[in-house]
Amino acid sequence: MRAVRLTHWGGPPVITEVERPEPRSEEVLVRVEAAGLCGSDLHVIAAAPGALPYLTPFTLGHEIAGRVAGSGPDATGPPTGERVVVYGPWGCGRCGHCSTGAENYCDRRPALDAVRAGTGAGLGRDGGLADFVLVPSGRLLLPVGDLAPTQAAPLSDAGLTAYHAITGIRQALDEAGGGAGGASVAVIGVGGLGHLAIQILRATTSAQVFAVDIRDDAIALADDCGAHFGTLVRPDTADVLRKRSGDAGVDAVLDFVGTSATLRLGVSALRAGGQLTLVGSGGGELTVRKPGALPPGLRMSLPFWGTRPDLERVIALARSGAVRVETKQFPLSRAPEAIDTLRSGAVRGRAVLIP
Ligand code: NAD
Ligand code: ZN
Ligand code: ZN
Repeated sequence: MRAVRLTHWGGPPVITEVERPEPRSEEVLVRVEAAGLCGSDLHVIAAAPGALPYLTPFTLGHEIAGRVAGSGPDATGPPTGERVVVYGPWGCGRCGHCSTGAENYCDRRPALDAVRAGTGAGLGRDGGLADFVLVPSGRLLLPVGDLAPTQAAPLSDAGLTAYHAITGIRQALDEAGGGAGGASVAVIGVGGLGHLAIQILRATTSAQVFAVDIRDDAIALADDCGAHFGTLVRPDTADVLRKRSGDAGVDAVLDFVGTSATLRLGVSALRAGGQLTLVGSGGGELTVRKPGALPPGLRMSLPFWGTRPDLERVIALARSGAVRVETKQFPLSRAPEAIDTLRSGAVRGRAVLIP
C-alpha cells in the first residue's frame, strides 16, 4: 500500500510502498477514504531532531475517515464495513483521564513519551496519509453514518480541537452574556481550525464572533462561516475589536496562530476577567507577571486536541448540517503538492487527501 512518510526531520515527506499491516489482538485495520492535512503537520515536518518525542520514519496524517476493513481476534468497536473517524490522541486507555474519554490528557503521557510511543495516529505512530491505517483499539473509532469522508476526516482534529477549545470558554461567555451587548469572542486565524470554530460558536453560543487573519480570502471565509465581523491584522486591530465589543474588550480570544504578535493582540483586545485560549503552535511567548500589563482577572488555557465525547458532539453538529467543512481536495498521490499549498497559505478551509 502507499504511505506518505516522514523519513527524517525537516522532510520533505515521501510517498513510499509499505506492507499493509495485519490487525492483531485488539487492533483494527481501517481503509482510509479521506485524510486531512493540519497546520501541525507543517510543524512536525519542520521540527528539529529531538524536538518531538517521536522516532522517524512514520506515516503522517492524524485526521482520518474510512471504513473498518478488518479486526484482530480480541477487537471491540464498530464492525467490518462500518464508516468511522479515528479519534486521534492515543493514550494508555486506562488512566483517570482516558477512562472518561479524555485521552488527549492521558495521565501516562510523560511515560509514553519517554519510550517514544507517539501521541497518536500520524504523530509518531503510522497515520492516515496512506491506503490503510492500523488503529490500536476499536475504542478509538467513532461511527459517522452517511457523512462524506471528506467532511468526516477534518472533524477529528480541526473540528474536535475547535470544539474542545470553545468548551473551555463557555463559562466566560455565559458570565458575560447577561451584560449590555452580550458576549463577544475573537477568533484569530481562520484556517482549518478557525473556520470551524466560527461555525461551532454560531451554532452553540449567542456570542458576537469577530474574525482576524492576515489573508483576505480567510476573512471572506469567516464571513461565509457566519462571523459577525472580520478584519485583517492592522496596527489598530485591538482597538477595533474593543470598540466592536462595546469598548470593554472581548470576553474571550481563541488564538489559532500562537505567535508573540497574536498573543499580544489577544491580551490587548481582552476585557478584564476575559479568557485567552491558546491553540496555535506558533511558538510565541507571553510574560506572566504581577504587577504587569495583562488584563486583571485574565484566565488562560492551553487546550490540546479534544475528548471522545467532544468528537461525538462535533459529528452530531456536522450531521445536523450546523457545521460544514470547507475543503480543498487532492489525490493522495499529490500529497507533496498539498503540503506545499498549505504552507504557502493557499488553502481555503482544510486540505483533504483522498487515497
Ligand atoms: P491553517 O494553516 O489552516 O490556518 C492558520 C490560519 O492562521 C491561516 O488562515 C493564516 O492565514 C492565519 N494566520 C497566520 N498568521 C497569522 C497572524 N499573524 N495573524 C492572524 N492570522 C494569521 O492551520 P490550522 O490547521 O488551522 O492550525 C492552526 C494552528 O493550530 C497551528 O499552529 C497548529 O499547529 C495548531 N493546532 C493545535 C492543536 C491543539 O490541540 N492545540 C490542534 C491542531 C492544530
Ligand atoms: Zn492537527
Ligand atoms: Zn491514559
